[in-house]
Amino acid sequence: MSTLLITHPAYLDHLTPLGHPERPDRLRAIERALEAEKFQSLARTLAPAASLEVIALCHPMDYVEQIRDATPAQGMTRLDADTSMSPGSFEAALRAVGGAIYAVDEIVNKRVANAFVAARPPGHHAETARPMGFCFFDQAAIAARYAQQRHGIARAAIVDFDVHHGNGSQEIFWDDKTVMYCSTHQMPLFPGTGALSETGDFNTIVNAPLRPGDGGAAFRAAFEGRILPRLADFQPELIIVSAGFDAHMRDPLANLNLEEGDFAWATQKIMDIADRFAGGRVVSVLEGGYDLEALANSAAAHVTALMRG
Ligand SMILES: [Zn+2]
Repeated sequence: MSTLLITHPAYLDHLTPLGHPERPDRLRAIERALEAEKFQSLARTLAPAASLEVIALCHPMDYVEQIRDATPAQGMTRLDADTSMSPGSFEAALRAVGGAIYAVDEIVNKRVANAFVAARPPGHHAETARPMGFCFFDQAAIAARYAQQRHGIARAAIVDFDVHHGNGSQEIFWDDKTVMYCSTHQMPLFPGTGALSETGDFNTIVNAPLRPGDGGAAFRAAFEGRILPRLADFQPELIIVSAGFDAHMRDPLANLNLEEGDFAWATQKIMDIADRFAGGRVVSVLEGGYDLEALANSAAAHVTALMRG
């Protein structure tokens, strides 16, 4: 079975202020990298728009409507210091969620082996009822909940290797023993959450903070020593990857020193767990990554690993 790549041109219509790191060129860089010959065997499709009801699996409907109603007819509306909306933002956000849940459908129905959703805006900072850190809706969290409700998946795990802690995903599943949230991230760094001691009501939150300057060795040790054993104990039936590539050494927003090969290694380790417990089911959704060259090369390495290349 193949790996599915999900994109949509509407993702480019979410505009951010001039000089903002979370910009449409990020997706253009990834799309160019995935045009290479070695990616010819990817299945490719356009992301559908999610319904508001699907988004309401993790966010209150009045919050969803509040974001919809904040969409400007022209120009930009700022929701917080670094999160803003343009006329195309709501549609992009609906299709970011839609891509993630479409990937769940295709994988659970055994039409593809796994999937990468190259979407923006990102999602893992969006809390239950608060936009934050370039994010409006948490597509990784929604995909996990959707897989449970629509497909009867009992236990889902989110593995988040973005350099920032996914405070939104942690908050959404803090008191939920059916979804494990695992994260490597730099500390201290935005958003400030993600300490080892934050373990959730049922010990299903697994944080593995890294120090500024840490590189591949510390990252791999955190995975092997902390995250992978907990995933194996949990035995997830589906793994969602919050795939941010801003822990790369070239990234301007943080100070970890990962290279492309580290992301490929982590992807392989996640797939090994998925092969053991989840029938290989892995849905990967793009989060951060702000150096265009590092982002493109890292996403290509990640997708190559998904393709078992
Ligand atoms: Zn990030």
